[in-house]
Amino acid sequence: MDDLIKQAAEDLASASKVTALTGAGISTESGIPPFRGKGGLWERYDPMEIAHIDALMKDPAKVWNILVKEMKVDTANPNDGHRGLAKLEKMGKLKTVITQNVDGLHQAAGNTDVIEFHGTFAWLRCMDCSRKYETREVDISQIPPRCICGGILRPDAVFFGEMIPQDALWRSRQVASDCDLMLVVGTSAVVQPAALMPIVAKESGAKVVEINPEKTPLTDEISDYLIMGAAGDVMNQIIEKLEQIS
Ligand code: NAD
Ligand code: ZN
Repeated sequence: MDDLIKQAAEDLASASKVTALTGAGISTESGIPPFRGKGGLWERYDPMEIAHIDALMKDPAKVWNILVKEMKVDTANPNDGHRGLAKLEKMGKLKTVITQNVDGLHQAAGNTDVIEFHGTFAWLRCMDCSRKYETREVDISQIPPRCICGGILRPDAVFFGEMIPQDALWRSRQVASDCDLMLVVGTSAVVQPAALMPIVAKESGAKVVEINPEKTPLTDEISDYLIMGAAGDVMNQIIEKLEQIS
């Protein structure tokens, strides 16, 4: 692993336009469970019952009670993985983070250009009139919370079965095809079309570096290499090495 940390630091040192693609794995060290893998919500719930748009339409209170509460996004703080990516931006390396996460932790850590591919739980949207509310300003002790029009409020996030917002998709393709290195951190790379972005980057000539404790469908196929480990620990080591050589 030491060799790969050194390799990643050298690759970052010679890169100038880095894009990161992140997934639920980068937030597990902040106490937010992922969907898949060890400790994931799918060990306890059927995805179709809590994260599909049909489930939300059929029983919003159930989705609120399980998904929104289990994800604990309102109380979580950034960890070393998020902070490492924010440092890379400060160092002038990282330009954009494409995240599949809905927890707002990249912005909280200090990254300024974050594409929220699957929307966010920081905002709620009325299912009737589309009025938006900041989640922290809404009383969510009443489940499901309601709009002033009486409609039910839902997270302004993309559920399974829904389309990716056009601007997020368009900009993600843009930054993926324009980077010289893509860091792929904490994603199982099975949710489409997010998982296409490393392929777009690779086809445009970028290096693709994965950080994940497990292999993914990108490993050995698309990624130049996988650094096997937890995002926080690996990012700390990479940044330390990068600061030594640059
Ligand atoms: P996923 O749940 O499918 O996979 C998580 C991945 O993270 C796995 O590959 C796992 O090996 C890896 N991982 C676990 N711990 C890690 C660590 N400490 N460091 C690095 N990697 C680690 O996640 P996904 O690929 O993002 O897809 C799931 C979808 O669910 C996303 O689209 C997202 O919208 C949503 N989701 C978001 C959050 C969040 O906002 N924090 C949490 C759960 C799910
Ligand atoms: Zn309304």
